[in-house]
Amino acid sequence: MAEPSQEAELSTRDLCYRYGEQWAVDDVTLKLRPGELTALIGPNGAGKSTLLQMLQGQLTPSHGEVLLGEQPIRSCRHQVALMPQRGRIDWRFPITALEMVKLRHSGKGAAVDRDAKAALASVGMEALGGARLGELSGGQQQRVLLASCLTQSSNTLLLDEPCSAMDPPARQKVLELLRDEAKSGRCICLSSHDWGTALQHYDRVIVLDRQLLFDGPPQQVGPQLNELITSRSGWQH
Ligand code: ADP
Ligand code: MG
Repeated sequence: MAEPSQEAELSTRDLCYRYGEQWAVDDVTLKLRPGELTALIGPNGAGKSTLLQMLQGQLTPSHGEVLLGEQPIRSCRHQVALMPQRGRIDWRFPITALEMVKLRHSGKGAAVDRDAKAALASVGMEALGGARLGELSGGQQQRVLLASCLTQSSNTLLLDEPCSAMDPPARQKVLELLRDEAKSGRCICLSSHDWGTALQHYDRVIVLDRQLLFDGPPQQVGPQLNELITSRSGWQH
């Protein structure tokens, strides 16, 4: 079977996931396109992490399917990179920041070292390549995870709350970096519960609360979301 091209869209149809009796994601149909920077927003427990894990093929849907181009995601998982939520990583793993970034690099030889150092520099971590993961702050650890995603050959990057522990200047730098990556043709989707930033800075905003509530450009989703926030508890900042 032919590999999907780098321009392939990542799409879902009627996607559902159930933990025991509880539906975490219910009937989500969407399409992520190359060149777009998309925010996936929703309150805690909305199903964002579950959806991202299904999009990368880590979790098998209870119902529905995920396709990259025409192919089921299971057959082309390496074309989609997922940066896990910070809490899902064991930071006591005894390696350095640079070694962590090199782990997932798909290349060989000197290029691996060069690319890993360049990726660390792009997230402002060039001086900390030799630091052990456990010695880094939360925001620095997230920057290492992001650098690791960036060095992978995958055109689609799914980032699960990549900036949650970062300070505002680091967030700003990452936002600019992701915007450049999207401009160069990558498909980027990141989850967040910071809808203020999402509505200001992203090309597209998807609002999830188990079900997909809204999906569109910020100008369209902003007013819809405001109306929802005033009518539902759990959606306040
Ligand atoms: P979000 O990332 O939006 O905070 P999650 O996808 O982590 O949401 O979780 C969605 C729902 O599924 C929550 O109610 C959560 O408690 C539940 N859930 C998540 N992971 C598990 C799990 N491994 N076992 C059981 N329930 C889970
Ligand atoms: Mg989550």
